[in-house]
Amino acid sequence: MKKWIRKLHNLITKDINNEKEAKDLAVLLRVLSLIYIAYYIFVALSLTHLYHYGHAFIALICAGLLGGCFVITYDNRTKQARRMFHIVTIVSASYFTLMAGWFMNFQWNILITILIIFYSLELQMSKKIYYMKLLFVLIVALAIFTHMAPTYREGSELFSFFFQTIHVFFYAIMLCIIAYCYCTKFNRAEEKLRQFNKKLIEMASLDALTQLPNRRSMNEHLETLVYDNDRTGKPFCVAIGDVDFFKKINDNYGHDTGDYVLKTLSELFQNIVKGRGKVARWGGEEFLFCFEGMSVQQAYATLEVLRLQIEKYNFQFKEHTLKITMTFGLEEYSQIIGIESTISKADQKLYEGKNSGRNKVVY
Ligand code: GH3
Ligand code: MG
Ligand code: MG
Repeated sequence: MKKWIRKLHNLITKDINNEKEAKDLAVLLRVLSLIYIAYYIFVALSLTHLYHYGHAFIALICAGLLGGCFVITYDNRTKQARRMFHIVTIVSASYFTLMAGWFMNFQWNILITILIIFYSLELQMSKKIYYMKLLFVLIVALAIFTHMAPTYREGSELFSFFFQTIHVFFYAIMLCIIAYCYCTKFNRAEEKLRQFNKKLIEMASLDALTQLPNRRSMNEHLETLVYDNDRTGKPFCVAIGDVDFFKKINDNYGHDTGDYVLKTLSELFQNIVKGRGKVARWGGEEFLFCFEGMSVQQAYATLEVLRLQIEKYNFQFKEHTLKITMTFGLEEYSQIIGIESTISKADQKLYEGKNSGRNKVVY
């Protein structure tokens, strides 16, 4: 039994090969077509029971047409399948309402059609509203016709009651299925949007080469540190690090090697700042570090560890083994001068370091 259910599920949810068409509409049409086929067979059997063979034959034709509608959804023709579905349900609903009367509830099949129209993404909203108005006019026309003209009604009261009840259940099931499909479609779209937004935020805040936070993201972070410092007095230090003679690496070994060095350095930086603060690519081969809750001496000690690590590290790229050094300028944040001047002071110290022999931390 489970095997058959799985097979049916796979058949119904089978993908379509056309990028322009929505798979979820094809799946919904398949489910509804199968239920409608069963529905029309049921109608045909009921009418046969009342000896209305002509009407029963029409119900069977509807079942056959919906079988065709089911099949063509696999043929990349969802649009045609939708049209065929609408025509069959609208025409048959009108026909059976006129034939059996308003109280048999055949006319509400038209409302199911309206829901499917709104489900289709390829239709413009103005067209959807236009079709909706037309179908409302049709329902009103059917109401007027069936109340004014004598309708062809036969069968016992019990049979009539049975048909009305069956219709109520049928519409309830249809509504549940359509609501479920709307809900999953909406959830899927929302999830896609959430993932996309997450990616956009990441892209806007990360440097593409090193995957470190970029300057914009660091500026936002510094704002929060300044805010915390104003409220709680929690100290923090900023340092700017610049690779020594980086231009030569590019010139001697190529830009790829330079990129590799920047990526490898970024990994070393992240290991050292983990739990202590944050590092960002400030621009080119310059990086801005912030050390949170640290005095300038503690930050200096941390940077010295990093500086020595870099000095000792063998940067291996293709056949080259490179030695790199870095110079750092370090400054503790002061409320008196503000964050911009703190960064400028760190920058000045970096250039002091560059002018006094490089490969050092100046504070
Ligand atoms: P100094 O010790 O004075 O800092 O010397 P330097 O050669 O490092 O200084 P300079 O600012 O003259 O050179 C920086 C170089 O960094 C120039 C630029 O081509 C290179 N650069 C900037 N961004 C990138 C990048 O993303 N990839 C690579 N490969 N090189 C970059
Ligand atoms: Mg440099
Ligand atoms: Mg530089």
